[in-house]
Amino acid sequence: MTAPVPAPAPAPAKAGDFIRDIINDDLQAGRCTKVITRFPPEPNGFLHIGHAKSICLNFGLALEYRERLPESGTRCHLRFDDTDPAKEDTLFEDGIQEDVRWLGFDWDGLYHASDYFEKLYEYAEHLITAGKAFVCSLSDAEIKAHRGDVKTPGKNSPYRDRSVEENLDLFRRMRKGEFKDGEHVLRAKIDMANANMKMRDPMLYRIRHTAHHMTGSTWCIYPMYDYAHPISDAIEGITHSICTLEFENNRELYDWAIDNLIDYAKFPSRPHQYEFARLSLNYTVLSKRRLQELVEGKHVSGWDDPRLPTIAGLRRRGYTPESIRAFCATVGVSKANSTVDMAQLEFCIRDDLNQKAPRVLAVLKPLKVIIENYPDDKVEELDASYWPHDVPKEGSRQIPFCKEIYIEQDDFMLEPPKDYFRLAPGKEVRLRYGHLITCKDVIKDDAGNVTAVVCTYDTEVKPGDNPVGRKVKGTIHWVSARHAVDAEVRLYDRLLSEESPPTGKDSEFLNVVNQDALKVLTGCKLERSLGEAKAGDRFQFERQGYFIADEKDCKPGQTPVFNRIVTLKDSWARSQKK
Ligand code: ATP
Ligand code: MG
Repeated sequence: MTAPVPAPAPAPAKAGDFIRDIINDDLQAGRCTKVITRFPPEPNGFLHIGHAKSICLNFGLALEYRERLPESGTRCHLRFDDTDPAKEDTLFEDGIQEDVRWLGFDWDGLYHASDYFEKLYEYAEHLITAGKAFVCSLSDAEIKAHRGDVKTPGKNSPYRDRSVEENLDLFRRMRKGEFKDGEHVLRAKIDMANANMKMRDPMLYRIRHTAHHMTGSTWCIYPMYDYAHPISDAIEGITHSICTLEFENNRELYDWAIDNLIDYAKFPSRPHQYEFARLSLNYTVLSKRRLQELVEGKHVSGWDDPRLPTIAGLRRRGYTPESIRAFCATVGVSKANSTVDMAQLEFCIRDDLNQKAPRVLAVLKPLKVIIENYPDDKVEELDASYWPHDVPKEGSRQIPFCKEIYIEQDDFMLEPPKDYFRLAPGKEVRLRYGHLITCKDVIKDDAGNVTAVVCTYDTEVKPGDNPVGRKVKGTIHWVSARHAVDAEVRLYDRLLSEESPPTGKDSEFLNVVNQDALKVLTGCKLERSLGEAKAGDRFQFERQGYFIADEKDCKPGQTPVFNRIVTLKDSWARSQKK
Protein backbone atom coordinates (compact mmCIF):
# COMPACT_ATOMS: atom_id res chain seq x y z
CA MET A 1 0.00 0.00 0.00
CA THR A 2 1.34 3.40 -0.91
CA ALA A 3 1.14 6.21 1.58
CA PRO A 4 -1.48 8.81 0.75
CA VAL A 5 0.02 11.79 -1.00
CA PRO A 6 -0.32 14.78 1.29
CA ALA A 7 -2.30 17.62 -0.15
CA PRO A 8 0.01 20.38 -1.31
CA ALA A 9 0.16 23.24 1.13
CA PRO A 10 -1.84 26.16 -0.18
CA ALA A 11 0.17 28.93 -1.72
CA PRO A 12 0.70 31.83 0.66
CA ALA A 13 -1.92 34.54 0.38
CA LYS A 14 -0.88 37.92 -0.91
CA ALA A 15 1.69 39.56 1.27
CA GLY A 16 -0.24 40.95 4.15
CA ASP A 17 -0.13 41.73 7.79
CA PHE A 18 0.92 39.77 10.83
CA ILE A 19 -2.53 38.14 11.14
CA ARG A 20 -2.37 36.83 7.60
CA ASP A 21 1.19 35.66 8.28
CA ILE A 22 -0.03 33.69 11.28
CA ILE A 23 -2.87 32.13 9.31
CA ASN A 24 -0.57 31.22 6.43
CA ASP A 25 1.84 29.58 8.86
CA ASP A 26 -0.99 27.66 10.52
CA LEU A 27 -2.26 26.41 7.18
CA GLN A 28 1.20 25.49 5.97
CA ALA A 29 2.03 23.63 9.16
CA GLY A 30 -1.33 21.86 9.10
CA ARG A 31 -2.45 23.38 12.40
CA CYS A 32 -5.70 24.16 10.65
CA THR A 33 -7.27 23.30 7.32
CA LYS A 34 -9.73 26.16 7.22
CA VAL A 35 -10.12 29.61 8.66
CA ILE A 36 -13.06 30.43 10.89
CA THR A 37 -13.29 33.93 12.30
CA ARG A 38 -16.02 35.82 14.11
CA PHE A 39 -17.09 39.37 14.65
CA PRO A 40 -18.38 39.62 18.24
CA PRO A 41 -20.16 42.92 18.95
CA GLU A 42 -21.87 43.55 22.20
CA PRO A 43 -25.44 44.64 21.31
CA ASN A 44 -25.32 47.69 23.56
CA GLY A 45 -24.94 50.45 20.99
CA PHE A 46 -24.37 51.11 17.32
CA LEU A 47 -21.21 50.22 15.46
CA HIS A 48 -18.59 52.84 14.69
CA ILE A 49 -15.78 53.07 12.20
CA GLY A 50 -13.47 51.28 14.64
CA HIS A 51 -15.77 48.28 14.41
CA ALA A 52 -15.61 48.60 10.63
CA LYS A 53 -11.89 47.87 10.88
CA SER A 54 -12.63 44.67 12.77
CA ILE A 55 -15.47 43.77 10.36
CA CYS A 56 -13.28 44.27 7.30
CA LEU A 57 -10.58 42.14 8.90
CA ASN A 58 -12.74 39.24 10.11
CA PHE A 59 -15.15 39.03 7.19
CA GLY A 60 -12.39 39.96 4.77
CA LEU A 61 -10.22 37.05 5.95
CA ALA A 62 -13.09 34.62 5.45
CA LEU A 63 -13.68 35.89 1.91
CA GLU A 64 -10.00 35.77 1.02
CA TYR A 65 -9.29 32.32 2.39
CA ARG A 66 -12.53 30.87 1.06
CA GLU A 67 -11.32 31.84 -2.36
CA ARG A 68 -8.08 29.98 -1.74
CA LEU A 69 -9.70 27.03 0.06
CA PRO A 70 -13.14 26.77 -1.52
CA GLU A 71 -14.28 23.46 -0.01
CA SER A 72 -12.69 23.92 3.39
CA GLY A 73 -15.58 25.38 5.36
CA THR A 74 -13.79 28.69 5.82
CA ARG A 75 -16.25 31.23 7.20
CA CYS A 76 -16.99 34.17 9.47
CA HIS A 77 -19.69 34.24 12.14
CA LEU A 78 -21.55 37.17 13.52
CA ARG A 79 -21.85 36.56 17.22
CA PHE A 80 -23.61 38.86 19.60
CA ASP A 81 -21.63 38.93 22.76
CA ASP A 82 -24.67 39.33 24.97
CA THR A 83 -23.49 38.46 28.44
CA ASP A 84 -24.55 41.70 30.13
CA PRO A 85 -28.37 41.83 30.20
CA ALA A 86 -28.56 45.35 31.62
CA LYS A 87 -27.38 47.25 28.57
CA GLU A 88 -28.40 45.08 25.65
CA ASP A 89 -31.27 45.36 23.26
CA THR A 90 -32.62 43.82 20.06
CA LEU A 91 -32.82 47.32 18.64
CA PHE A 92 -29.01 47.37 18.66
CA GLU A 93 -28.85 43.88 17.16
CA ASP A 94 -30.95 45.01 14.21
CA GLY A 95 -28.80 48.10 13.76
CA ILE A 96 -25.58 46.06 13.85
CA GLN A 97 -26.84 43.58 11.26
CA GLU A 98 -27.93 46.39 8.99
CA ASP A 99 -24.52 48.03 9.31
CA VAL A 100 -22.54 44.85 8.59
CA ARG A 101 -24.64 44.19 5.48
CA TRP A 102 -24.37 47.79 4.35
CA LEU A 103 -20.59 47.55 4.60
CA GLY A 104 -20.90 44.74 2.07
CA PHE A 105 -20.45 41.65 4.23
CA ASP A 106 -22.63 38.74 5.17
CA TRP A 107 -22.22 36.23 7.95
CA ASP A 108 -22.07 32.46 7.65
CA GLY A 109 -24.09 31.93 10.78
CA LEU A 110 -25.63 34.26 13.34
CA TYR A 111 -24.99 33.33 16.95
CA HIS A 112 -25.39 34.67 20.45
CA ALA A 113 -23.21 34.01 23.45
CA SER A 114 -26.56 33.45 25.16
CA ASP A 115 -27.10 30.40 22.90
CA TYR A 116 -24.47 28.77 25.07
CA PHE A 117 -25.68 29.76 28.54
CA GLU A 118 -26.68 26.19 29.35
CA LYS A 119 -23.36 24.77 28.11
CA LEU A 120 -21.42 27.47 29.91
CA TYR A 121 -23.22 26.59 33.10
CA GLU A 122 -22.46 22.92 32.64
CA TYR A 123 -18.76 23.67 32.12
CA ALA A 124 -18.76 25.84 35.21
CA GLU A 125 -20.06 22.95 37.30
CA HIS A 126 -17.27 20.88 35.81
CA LEU A 127 -14.70 23.45 36.87
CA ILE A 128 -16.13 23.39 40.40
CA THR A 129 -16.01 19.60 40.49
CA ALA A 130 -12.43 19.66 39.28
CA GLY A 131 -11.54 22.07 42.11
CA LYS A 132 -10.85 24.89 39.65
CA ALA A 133 -13.64 27.25 40.61
CA PHE A 134 -15.26 28.32 43.86
CA VAL A 135 -18.16 30.42 45.08
CA CYS A 136 -16.87 33.57 46.72
CA SER A 137 -19.04 35.58 49.09
CA LEU A 138 -16.89 38.67 49.38
CA SER A 139 -18.45 41.92 48.24
CA ASP A 140 -17.23 43.59 45.04
CA ALA A 141 -15.24 46.08 47.09
CA GLU A 142 -13.63 43.33 49.17
CA ILE A 143 -12.71 41.37 46.07
CA LYS A 144 -11.07 44.46 44.69
CA ALA A 145 -9.18 45.09 47.91
CA HIS A 146 -7.92 41.48 47.93
CA ARG A 147 -6.67 41.67 44.38
CA GLY A 148 -3.45 43.57 45.13
CA ASP A 149 -1.75 45.47 42.35
CA VAL A 150 1.04 45.00 39.83
CA LYS A 151 3.65 45.23 42.60
CA THR A 152 1.73 43.50 45.39
CA PRO A 153 0.40 39.97 45.21
CA GLY A 154 -3.27 39.56 46.03
CA LYS A 155 -4.72 37.77 49.05
CA ASN A 156 -6.70 34.56 48.88
CA SER A 157 -10.42 34.88 49.47
CA PRO A 158 -11.48 33.36 52.80
CA TYR A 159 -14.00 31.33 50.76
CA ARG A 160 -11.36 29.85 48.46
CA ASP A 161 -11.24 26.53 50.26
CA ARG A 162 -14.94 25.76 50.32
CA SER A 163 -15.58 22.10 49.56
CA VAL A 164 -16.68 20.98 46.12
CA GLU A 165 -20.06 20.01 47.61
CA GLU A 166 -20.62 23.38 49.22
CA ASN A 167 -19.54 25.17 46.02
CA LEU A 168 -21.87 23.07 43.88
CA ASP A 169 -24.74 23.61 46.27
CA LEU A 170 -24.22 27.37 46.39
CA PHE A 171 -23.75 27.66 42.62
CA ARG A 172 -26.94 25.70 41.96
CA ARG A 173 -28.82 27.90 44.40
CA MET A 174 -27.35 30.98 42.73
CA ARG A 175 -28.90 29.72 39.51
CA LYS A 176 -32.23 29.07 41.22
CA GLY A 177 -32.40 32.67 42.32
CA GLU A 178 -32.02 32.16 46.07
CA PHE A 179 -29.57 35.04 46.44
CA LYS A 180 -29.57 38.73 45.79
CA ASP A 181 -27.36 40.50 43.22
CA GLY A 182 -23.79 40.64 44.51
CA GLU A 183 -24.26 38.16 47.34
CA HIS A 184 -22.01 35.56 45.74
CA VAL A 185 -19.92 35.17 42.61
CA LEU A 186 -18.24 32.21 40.99
CA ARG A 187 -14.49 32.64 40.63
CA ALA A 188 -11.78 30.63 38.95
CA LYS A 189 -9.22 29.23 41.37
CA ILE A 190 -5.94 30.12 39.70
CA ASP A 191 -3.31 32.15 41.53
CA MET A 192 -3.70 35.31 43.60
CA ALA A 193 0.01 36.05 43.21
CA ASN A 194 0.07 35.74 39.44
CA ALA A 195 1.98 38.54 37.72
CA ASN A 196 -0.97 38.84 35.35
CA MET A 197 -3.76 40.47 37.38
CA LYS A 198 -6.34 38.85 35.10
CA MET A 199 -5.26 35.47 36.49
CA ARG A 200 -5.88 36.37 40.13
CA ASP A 201 -8.94 34.19 40.67
CA PRO A 202 -11.04 36.05 38.08
CA MET A 203 -14.79 36.20 38.29
CA LEU A 204 -16.63 33.72 36.05
CA TYR A 205 -20.26 34.30 37.02
CA ARG A 206 -22.24 36.94 38.82
CA ILE A 207 -25.84 37.25 39.97
CA ARG A 208 -28.02 39.68 38.04
CA HIS A 209 -31.76 39.60 38.56
CA THR A 210 -32.29 41.27 35.23
CA ALA A 211 -34.25 39.99 32.24
CA HIS A 212 -32.17 39.30 29.14
CA HIS A 213 -33.34 40.34 25.68
CA MET A 214 -32.83 36.80 24.36
CA THR A 215 -33.34 34.49 27.31
CA GLY A 216 -35.96 36.48 29.20
CA SER A 217 -36.04 35.58 32.89
CA THR A 218 -34.56 32.10 32.46
CA TRP A 219 -31.30 33.15 34.07
CA CYS A 220 -30.35 35.25 37.02
CA ILE A 221 -26.65 34.39 36.84
CA TYR A 222 -24.63 35.57 33.87
CA PRO A 223 -21.16 34.54 32.70
CA MET A 224 -18.35 37.06 32.40
CA TYR A 225 -16.90 37.94 29.01
CA ASP A 226 -13.52 36.35 29.77
CA TYR A 227 -15.19 33.04 30.47
CA ALA A 228 -17.96 33.09 27.85
CA HIS A 229 -15.86 34.33 24.95
CA PRO A 230 -13.24 31.57 24.63
CA ILE A 231 -15.82 28.86 25.16
CA SER A 232 -18.18 30.36 22.57
CA ASP A 233 -15.23 30.42 20.18
CA ALA A 234 -14.43 26.79 20.91
CA ILE A 235 -18.05 25.68 20.47
CA GLU A 236 -18.27 27.39 17.10
CA GLY A 237 -14.94 26.02 15.94
CA ILE A 238 -13.35 29.44 15.58
CA THR A 239 -9.72 29.04 14.51
CA HIS A 240 -8.48 32.61 14.82
CA SER A 241 -10.14 34.78 17.45
CA ILE A 242 -9.08 38.31 16.65
CA CYS A 243 -9.56 41.14 19.10
CA THR A 244 -8.00 44.48 19.96
CA LEU A 245 -4.78 45.04 21.91
CA GLU A 246 -6.37 45.90 25.22
CA PHE A 247 -7.25 42.21 25.50
CA GLU A 248 -3.60 41.15 25.43
CA ASN A 249 -3.58 40.41 29.16
CA ASN A 250 -6.82 38.46 28.82
CA ARG A 251 -5.20 35.96 26.48
CA GLU A 252 -3.79 33.89 29.33
CA LEU A 253 -7.25 33.55 30.81
CA TYR A 254 -8.67 32.78 27.37
CA ASP A 255 -6.26 29.87 27.11
CA TRP A 256 -6.91 28.79 30.70
CA ALA A 257 -10.67 28.66 30.11
CA ILE A 258 -10.28 26.46 27.05
CA ASP A 259 -7.55 24.23 28.39
CA ASN A 260 -9.53 23.54 31.52
CA LEU A 261 -12.74 22.71 29.71
CA ILE A 262 -14.16 19.27 30.06
CA ASP A 263 -13.34 17.34 26.90
CA TYR A 264 -11.88 20.33 25.17
CA ALA A 265 -10.19 17.99 22.76
CA LYS A 266 -13.62 17.17 21.36
CA PHE A 267 -14.22 20.71 20.18
CA PRO A 268 -13.96 21.28 16.45
CA SER A 269 -10.85 23.39 16.89
CA ARG A 270 -8.60 24.86 19.53
CA PRO A 271 -9.09 28.57 18.98
CA HIS A 272 -6.31 31.07 19.63
CA GLN A 273 -6.63 34.74 20.36
CA TYR A 274 -4.65 37.34 18.44
CA GLU A 275 -4.64 41.06 19.15
CA PHE A 276 -4.34 43.95 16.72
CA ALA A 277 -4.28 47.70 17.26
CA ARG A 278 -7.70 49.29 17.53
CA LEU A 279 -8.50 52.15 15.24
CA SER A 280 -8.41 55.56 16.74
CA LEU A 281 -9.16 58.66 14.73
CA ASN A 282 -8.48 62.27 15.60
CA TYR A 283 -11.24 64.91 15.88
CA THR A 284 -13.80 62.32 16.96
CA VAL A 285 -14.58 59.74 19.63
CA LEU A 286 -14.61 55.99 19.06
CA SER A 287 -16.05 54.63 22.24
CA LYS A 288 -19.58 53.44 22.59
CA ARG A 289 -19.83 54.96 26.03
CA ARG A 290 -18.93 58.41 24.78
CA LEU A 291 -21.11 58.09 21.72
CA GLN A 292 -23.97 57.10 23.98
CA GLU A 293 -23.32 60.16 26.12
CA LEU A 294 -23.60 62.36 23.03
CA VAL A 295 -26.82 60.68 21.98
CA GLU A 296 -28.47 60.56 25.37
CA GLY A 297 -27.38 64.07 26.28
CA LYS A 298 -28.99 65.23 23.02
CA HIS A 299 -25.76 66.78 21.80
CA VAL A 300 -26.59 65.09 18.49
CA SER A 301 -29.87 64.01 16.93
CA GLY A 302 -29.40 60.25 17.39
CA TRP A 303 -27.02 57.34 16.67
CA ASP A 304 -27.24 58.17 12.98
CA ASP A 305 -26.41 61.85 13.36
CA PRO A 306 -24.07 62.64 10.44
CA ARG A 307 -21.55 64.19 12.83
CA LEU A 308 -20.93 60.85 14.52
CA PRO A 309 -18.37 58.26 13.42
CA THR A 310 -21.00 55.54 13.74
CA ILE A 311 -21.61 53.47 10.63
CA ALA A 312 -25.21 54.72 10.66
CA GLY A 313 -23.97 58.31 10.99
CA LEU A 314 -21.39 57.95 8.22
CA ARG A 315 -24.02 56.35 5.99
CA ARG A 316 -26.41 59.21 6.55
CA ARG A 317 -23.60 61.69 6.11
CA GLY A 318 -23.14 60.18 2.65
CA TYR A 319 -20.08 57.96 3.02
CA THR A 320 -20.12 54.93 0.72
CA PRO A 321 -19.33 51.40 1.91
CA GLU A 322 -16.53 51.32 -0.68
CA SER A 323 -14.88 54.38 0.83
CA ILE A 324 -14.97 52.90 4.33
CA ARG A 325 -13.56 49.59 3.12
CA ALA A 326 -10.84 51.45 1.25
CA PHE A 327 -10.06 53.41 4.38
CA CYS A 328 -9.77 50.25 6.47
CA ALA A 329 -7.48 48.78 3.83
CA THR A 330 -5.18 51.80 3.85
CA VAL A 331 -5.07 51.84 7.64
CA GLY A 332 -3.99 48.20 7.64
CA VAL A 333 -3.63 45.80 10.53
CA SER A 334 -0.76 46.14 12.94
CA LYS A 335 0.29 45.60 16.52
CA ALA A 336 1.13 49.23 17.23
CA ASN A 337 -1.51 51.63 18.48
CA SER A 338 -1.60 54.91 16.64
CA THR A 339 -4.05 57.65 15.79
CA VAL A 340 -5.14 57.97 12.20
CA ASP A 341 -5.77 61.40 10.73
CA MET A 342 -9.39 62.12 9.88
CA ALA A 343 -8.06 63.58 6.62
CA GLN A 344 -7.28 60.02 5.54
CA LEU A 345 -10.94 59.02 5.84
CA GLU A 346 -11.96 62.18 4.01
CA PHE A 347 -9.48 61.41 1.27
CA CYS A 348 -11.09 57.99 0.76
CA ILE A 349 -14.59 59.38 0.30
CA ARG A 350 -13.41 62.11 -2.06
CA ASP A 351 -11.50 59.57 -4.05
CA ASP A 352 -14.55 57.33 -4.38
CA LEU A 353 -17.06 60.08 -5.13
CA ASN A 354 -14.79 61.70 -7.69
CA GLN A 355 -15.70 58.77 -9.95
CA LYS A 356 -19.31 58.43 -8.82
CA ALA A 357 -20.90 61.79 -8.11
CA PRO A 358 -22.21 63.84 -11.04
CA ARG A 359 -21.25 67.51 -11.01
CA VAL A 360 -24.08 69.99 -10.63
CA LEU A 361 -24.55 73.65 -9.77
CA ALA A 362 -25.95 74.80 -6.45
CA VAL A 363 -25.85 78.17 -4.75
CA LEU A 364 -25.79 77.84 -0.99
CA LYS A 365 -25.83 81.50 0.08
CA PRO A 366 -27.64 83.19 -2.78
CA LEU A 367 -27.15 86.72 -4.08
CA LYS A 368 -29.35 87.83 -6.94
CA VAL A 369 -27.81 89.02 -10.19
CA ILE A 370 -29.96 90.92 -12.70
CA ILE A 371 -28.67 90.94 -16.25
CA GLU A 372 -29.91 94.24 -17.55
CA ASN A 373 -29.48 93.66 -21.25
CA TYR A 374 -30.96 90.14 -21.28
CA PRO A 375 -34.54 89.91 -22.63
CA ASP A 376 -37.15 89.50 -19.89
CA ASP A 377 -38.77 86.30 -21.10
CA LYS A 378 -35.88 84.64 -22.88
CA VAL A 379 -34.61 81.25 -21.67
CA GLU A 380 -31.52 79.59 -23.10
CA GLU A 381 -30.97 75.90 -22.44
CA LEU A 382 -27.25 75.35 -21.97
CA ASP A 383 -25.49 72.03 -22.34
CA ALA A 384 -23.66 71.00 -19.21
CA SER A 385 -21.71 67.81 -18.74
CA TYR A 386 -22.18 65.87 -15.54
CA TRP A 387 -18.54 64.77 -15.61
CA PRO A 388 -15.16 66.45 -15.83
CA HIS A 389 -12.76 65.39 -18.59
CA ASP A 390 -10.72 63.14 -16.33
CA VAL A 391 -13.66 60.96 -15.31
CA PRO A 392 -14.38 58.48 -18.09
CA LYS A 393 -18.14 58.82 -17.97
CA GLU A 394 -20.70 60.40 -20.23
CA GLY A 395 -23.89 62.23 -19.51
CA SER A 396 -25.13 65.76 -19.51
CA ARG A 397 -28.19 67.84 -18.82
CA GLN A 398 -29.50 71.21 -19.89
CA ILE A 399 -29.38 74.10 -17.52
CA PRO A 400 -31.65 77.07 -18.13
CA PHE A 401 -30.24 80.60 -18.28
CA CYS A 402 -32.39 83.72 -17.95
CA LYS A 403 -32.38 87.36 -16.90
CA GLU A 404 -32.20 86.78 -13.16
CA ILE A 405 -29.78 84.32 -11.64
CA TYR A 406 -28.29 83.59 -8.24
CA ILE A 407 -24.62 83.51 -7.47
CA GLU A 408 -22.82 82.78 -4.23
CA GLN A 409 -22.57 85.77 -1.87
CA ASP A 410 -18.86 84.98 -1.50
CA ASP A 411 -18.41 85.38 -5.25
CA PHE A 412 -19.12 89.10 -5.07
CA MET A 413 -17.19 91.85 -3.30
CA LEU A 414 -17.96 95.55 -3.27
CA GLU A 415 -14.37 96.49 -2.52
CA PRO A 416 -12.23 93.57 -3.65
CA PRO A 417 -8.52 93.13 -2.96
CA LYS A 418 -6.20 93.16 -5.98
CA ASP A 419 -6.09 89.43 -6.60
CA TYR A 420 -9.87 88.89 -6.44
CA PHE A 421 -10.99 87.30 -9.69
CA ARG A 422 -14.67 86.95 -8.99
CA LEU A 423 -17.43 89.51 -9.44
CA ALA A 424 -16.94 93.11 -8.30
CA PRO A 425 -17.98 96.52 -9.59
CA GLY A 426 -16.57 96.94 -13.10
CA LYS A 427 -15.19 93.39 -13.22
CA GLU A 428 -16.05 90.64 -15.65
CA VAL A 429 -16.47 86.93 -14.83
CA ARG A 430 -17.45 83.83 -16.69
CA LEU A 431 -20.58 82.00 -15.59
CA ARG A 432 -19.95 78.27 -15.64
CA TYR A 433 -21.25 76.92 -19.02
CA GLY A 434 -22.73 80.36 -19.64
CA HIS A 435 -22.15 83.96 -20.55
CA LEU A 436 -19.52 86.51 -19.61
CA ILE A 437 -21.04 89.12 -17.32
CA THR A 438 -19.74 92.45 -16.06
CA CYS A 439 -20.91 94.14 -12.89
CA LYS A 440 -22.37 97.59 -13.55
CA ASP A 441 -24.16 98.48 -10.35
CA VAL A 442 -25.52 97.17 -7.07
CA ILE A 443 -28.87 97.48 -5.30
CA LYS A 444 -28.74 98.06 -1.56
CA ASP A 445 -31.30 97.91 1.22
CA ASP A 446 -31.84 100.72 3.74
CA ALA A 447 -29.05 99.36 5.91
CA GLY A 448 -26.63 99.53 3.02
CA ASN A 449 -26.38 95.79 2.38
CA VAL A 450 -26.09 94.66 -1.22
CA THR A 451 -29.31 92.83 -2.08
CA ALA A 452 -28.71 92.40 -5.80
CA VAL A 453 -26.03 92.99 -8.39
CA VAL A 454 -26.79 94.52 -11.75
CA CYS A 455 -24.75 93.22 -14.69
CA THR A 456 -24.65 93.15 -18.45
CA TYR A 457 -23.68 90.17 -20.54
CA ASP A 458 -21.48 90.14 -23.60
CA THR A 459 -23.93 89.62 -26.47
CA GLU A 460 -21.08 88.80 -28.88
CA VAL A 461 -19.81 85.76 -27.00
CA LYS A 462 -21.78 82.51 -27.11
CA PRO A 463 -22.31 80.67 -23.78
CA GLY A 464 -19.29 78.61 -22.89
CA ASP A 465 -17.13 80.13 -25.64
CA ASN A 466 -13.59 81.18 -25.02
CA PRO A 467 -12.78 84.01 -27.42
CA VAL A 468 -9.11 84.51 -28.20
CA GLY A 469 -7.46 87.40 -26.50
CA ARG A 470 -10.06 87.80 -23.80
CA LYS A 471 -8.68 87.40 -20.30
CA VAL A 472 -11.47 86.45 -17.96
CA LYS A 473 -9.81 84.87 -14.97
CA GLY A 474 -12.74 83.92 -12.76
CA THR A 475 -15.45 81.34 -13.41
CA ILE A 476 -18.28 81.18 -10.92
CA HIS A 477 -21.28 78.90 -10.51
CA TRP A 478 -24.84 80.15 -10.68
CA VAL A 479 -28.46 79.03 -10.87
CA SER A 480 -31.36 80.48 -12.86
CA ALA A 481 -33.64 82.29 -10.40
CA ARG A 482 -36.84 81.33 -12.15
CA HIS A 483 -35.95 77.63 -12.37
CA ALA A 484 -34.12 77.17 -9.08
CA VAL A 485 -35.16 74.50 -6.62
CA ASP A 486 -35.21 75.74 -3.03
CA ALA A 487 -33.41 73.48 -0.59
CA GLU A 488 -32.10 73.10 2.91
CA VAL A 489 -28.41 72.28 3.08
CA ARG A 490 -26.69 70.98 6.19
CA LEU A 491 -23.00 71.73 6.37
CA TYR A 492 -21.28 69.15 8.52
CA ASP A 493 -17.84 69.39 9.95
CA ARG A 494 -15.72 67.44 12.38
CA LEU A 495 -17.27 66.37 15.67
CA LEU A 496 -14.51 67.74 17.90
CA SER A 497 -12.78 71.06 17.64
CA GLU A 498 -9.57 69.57 19.01
CA GLU A 499 -7.47 66.78 17.66
CA SER A 500 -7.76 64.59 20.72
CA PRO A 501 -10.30 64.84 23.52
CA PRO A 502 -9.05 65.36 27.09
CA THR A 503 -8.09 62.05 28.62
CA GLY A 504 -9.46 62.95 32.03
CA LYS A 505 -12.95 62.31 33.27
CA ASP A 506 -15.39 60.92 30.75
CA SER A 507 -17.65 63.88 30.13
CA GLU A 508 -14.78 66.32 29.77
CA PHE A 509 -14.68 65.61 26.06
CA LEU A 510 -18.04 67.40 25.81
CA ASN A 511 -16.12 70.67 26.23
CA VAL A 512 -14.36 70.16 22.92
CA VAL A 513 -17.43 69.20 20.90
CA ASN A 514 -17.25 71.44 17.83
CA GLN A 515 -20.20 73.83 18.07
CA ASP A 516 -19.88 74.55 14.35
CA ALA A 517 -20.02 70.91 13.34
CA LEU A 518 -23.49 71.54 11.91
CA LYS A 519 -24.66 74.66 10.12
CA VAL A 520 -28.10 74.60 8.59
CA LEU A 521 -28.64 76.76 5.52
CA THR A 522 -32.13 77.36 4.21
CA GLY A 523 -33.22 79.01 1.01
CA CYS A 524 -30.36 77.49 -0.94
CA LYS A 525 -30.87 77.47 -4.71
CA LEU A 526 -30.22 74.30 -6.67
CA GLU A 527 -30.19 73.84 -10.42
CA ARG A 528 -33.45 72.59 -11.94
CA SER A 529 -32.32 68.98 -12.46
CA LEU A 530 -31.94 68.50 -8.71
CA GLY A 531 -35.70 68.78 -8.33
CA GLU A 532 -35.72 65.12 -9.30
CA ALA A 533 -33.08 63.99 -6.81
CA LYS A 534 -34.10 61.09 -4.61
CA ALA A 535 -33.08 60.40 -1.04
CA GLY A 536 -29.61 58.90 -1.08
CA ASP A 537 -28.49 60.48 -4.38
CA ARG A 538 -24.99 61.94 -4.23
CA PHE A 539 -23.64 64.90 -6.18
CA GLN A 540 -20.70 67.17 -6.34
CA PHE A 541 -21.91 70.74 -6.01
CA GLU A 542 -19.22 72.38 -8.11
CA ARG A 543 -16.67 74.36 -6.11
CA GLN A 544 -18.36 73.37 -2.83
CA GLY A 545 -18.06 69.72 -2.02
CA TYR A 546 -19.90 66.43 -2.16
CA PHE A 547 -23.50 66.29 -0.98
CA ILE A 548 -26.19 63.65 -0.46
CA ALA A 549 -29.97 64.00 -0.43
CA ASP A 550 -30.73 63.11 3.18
CA GLU A 551 -32.11 59.59 3.64
CA LYS A 552 -34.61 60.60 6.28
CA ASP A 553 -35.64 64.15 5.56
CA CYS A 554 -35.72 64.17 1.76
CA LYS A 555 -39.30 63.30 0.89
CA PRO A 556 -41.16 63.58 -2.42
CA GLY A 557 -43.07 66.84 -2.74
CA GLN A 558 -41.14 68.52 0.09
CA THR A 559 -38.21 70.90 0.18
CA PRO A 560 -35.16 68.74 -0.46
CA VAL A 561 -32.52 68.43 2.25
CA PHE A 562 -28.88 67.85 1.38
CA ASN A 563 -26.02 66.92 3.68
CA ARG A 564 -22.46 67.94 2.97
CA ILE A 565 -20.44 64.75 2.96
CA VAL A 566 -17.06 66.40 2.60
CA THR A 567 -15.58 69.57 1.18
CA LEU A 568 -13.62 69.41 -2.06
CA LYS A 569 -10.29 70.22 -0.49
CA ASP A 570 -8.96 69.92 2.94
CA SER A 571 -10.26 73.30 4.06
CA TRP A 572 -9.89 72.25 7.69
CA ALA A 573 -6.12 71.92 7.42
CA ARG A 574 -5.94 75.32 5.79
CA SER A 575 -8.12 77.05 8.37
CA GLN A 576 -6.12 75.42 11.19
CA LYS A 577 -2.87 76.69 9.67
CA LYS A 578 -4.22 80.21 9.67
P1 ATP B 1 -16.12 50.44 22.49
O1 ATP B 1 -14.72 50.48 22.99
O2 ATP B 1 -16.39 51.45 21.42
O3 ATP B 1 -17.14 50.49 23.56
P2 ATP B 1 -16.22 47.64 22.32
O4 ATP B 1 -14.89 47.05 22.12
O5 ATP B 1 -16.78 47.56 23.67
O6 ATP B 1 -16.25 49.09 21.72
P3 ATP B 1 -17.64 45.53 21.06
O7 ATP B 1 -19.05 45.52 20.64
O8 ATP B 1 -17.23 44.70 22.21
O9 ATP B 1 -17.27 47.04 21.33
O10 ATP B 1 -16.68 45.28 19.84
C1 ATP B 1 -16.86 44.26 18.88
C2 ATP B 1 -15.55 44.01 18.20
O11 ATP B 1 -15.08 45.19 17.55
C3 ATP B 1 -14.47 43.60 19.17
O12 ATP B 1 -13.76 42.51 18.61
C4 ATP B 1 -13.61 44.80 19.30
O13 ATP B 1 -12.29 44.44 19.58
C5 ATP B 1 -13.75 45.45 17.93
N1 ATP B 1 -13.53 46.89 18.03
C6 ATP B 1 -14.16 47.76 18.83
N2 ATP B 1 -13.64 49.00 18.72
C7 ATP B 1 -12.66 48.91 17.79
C8 ATP B 1 -11.73 49.84 17.22
N3 ATP B 1 -11.73 51.12 17.58
N4 ATP B 1 -10.87 49.39 16.29
C9 ATP B 1 -10.88 48.10 15.92
N5 ATP B 1 -11.70 47.18 16.41
C10 ATP B 1 -12.59 47.56 17.34
MG1 MG C 1 -16.50 45.23 24.35
